[in-house]
Amino acid sequence: MSLHPGPRLLLADEPTTALDVTTQAEVMAILDGLRRQSGLAMLFITHDLELAAAICDRTAVMYAGQIVEVRGSSLLHSDPLHPYTAALAAARPDITQTTHRLRAIPGRPLSAFEAPAGECAFAPRCTHAGDVCRAAVPDLVGLDGGGVSLRPCARASRPASGSNRWLRAPARRSSR
Ligand code: SF4
Repeated sequence: MSLHPGPRLLLADEPTTALDVTTQAEVMAILDGLRRQSGLAMLFITHDLELAAAICDRTAVMYAGQIVEVRGSSLLHSDPLHPYTAALAAARPDITQTTHRLRAIPGRPLSAFEAPAGECAFAPRCTHAGDVCRAAVPDLVGLDGGGVSLRPCARASRPASGSNRWLRAPARRSSR
């Protein structure tokens, strides 16, 4: 971690990784105080979707070095649009359930160097993957409402608010 004497942007690259929750809260309080006192913007990089939702206005979800979804942080859990975002949200433990089987994402994450060319990088792990997903890389497009963007997948369409259509059986389509 490093500090510039007069920054306008605070870049926090996984500042709480491997910290216990108490120390994590202390670090986040310091960063948030710095940000507020100095009127800084903060770019916060983390593997913790819950933490991102707690402190970030908007969150970009990346897979294999590519942005797959950018949205208001609160929407990522309640209304995920990309299958990877939905799978990440579903993999989090539910502390309200006494018996709850975790929903792990099959396979392992790919680095940007391992991503297959000319197809969706998430296809090897996506339960909705079909032939069309391996025919081309999905494009980055804007969403209705402005200010957010998403790399829609072959199956992408906006789900009803509050639903998580990617955790149910995929609707098969013959083309994008
Ligand atoms: S394009 Fe296909 S493989 Fe990729 S995330 Fe969408 S459904 Fe899954």
